[in-house]
Amino acid sequence: MWNEIYVEERIKDLPRVDGILKKMNRTPIFIENYSDLWGRSKKPYLHKRDSLNLFIARKEGQLLKEAPDAYGTSGESHYYFIHAYNCIYECQYCYLQGYFNTPDIVLFVNHEDIIEEMQRLVDSKKGERVWFHAGEFSDSLALTHLTGELSLYHDFCKNNPNAMIELRTKSVNTKELELLTPLSNFIISFSLSPISIAKRVDLKTPSVPSRIKVMRTLHELGWPIGIHFDPIVYEDQFKDCYEELLIHLKNETLTTHLKYLSLGVVRFTKEVYREVERNYPDSVIHTGPMIKSFDGKVRYHRPMRMWMMNTIKELSIRHGIPEDKIYLCMEDNA
Ligand code: SF4
Repeated sequence: MWNEIYVEERIKDLPRVDGILKKMNRTPIFIENYSDLWGRSKKPYLHKRDSLNLFIARKEGQLLKEAPDAYGTSGESHYYFIHAYNCIYECQYCYLQGYFNTPDIVLFVNHEDIIEEMQRLVDSKKGERVWFHAGEFSDSLALTHLTGELSLYHDFCKNNPNAMIELRTKSVNTKELELLTPLSNFIISFSLSPISIAKRVDLKTPSVPSRIKVMRTLHELGWPIGIHFDPIVYEDQFKDCYEELLIHLKNETLTTHLKYLSLGVVRFTKEVYREVERNYPDSVIHTGPMIKSFDGKVRYHRPMRMWMMNTIKELSIRHGIPEDKIYLCMEDNA
């Protein structure tokens, strides 16, 4: 799967790095600093299909990033933690295609530094609930069989009941997770679209039925589960498609026990939208008319977004998801 594997000299003797390399059974190229090479020149997003490089590195600078307003459940602090850049999957709407200069993946291995930063933040908030989300810059489970960091974050949650971690994923790679004991503040959230839409836009990801199967297994093991219907993409039969998806979730007893359901309609910065148009000119994403919106992002117009979200919200309630567990993601309140 990897073209070349690059490892920073300064971390090459860490047992974690050694463990990753052994599992991959590949000889790496040693480099001084990943940023000397990674993203230095423009590598088109679609080159990830046949020439994907992996960088193993130490993250310096910002390890946590404050999440924008309306990212998660309201009235609480939300942060992303940055443990990787880029992703093995290829969703047509992925914002990473216009965010970084390259699709090459970076795995940061200094998780202890990230956790130290998280601890400092939790201590400074004195008893307030603080959320940490993984999965903003990469899928949070897809490579965990190689990287093996989950137990560190799990311990952090065990020691800090006011901290909430959300692992956001489309992966079914739950082997490492299943070695751990479920915790109420360690949430696994799955991004889902109706099968017919996912087949067209979630390229190279596990299928929606396989994601739902894994969700059921995790739920039965006692893990708290969240769902993101995000991004919601318009197509003529979108209401029927979401109803079918909700019936599927209900049949797997997943609707009544959800920690939360977030709804977000597809949206892009203008740079990302340009990339999407270039990379996927025939995508179903272009079915609905897009405009520049209140925050400069490119979206469907507001009445259409609200109609889509309210339609899906009503369906979700009808299929057993409690209303107070549903929130609208990345929308203004105007
Ligand atoms: S799973 Fe997430 S990070 Fe990966 S390609 Fe899809 S949208 Fe991007």
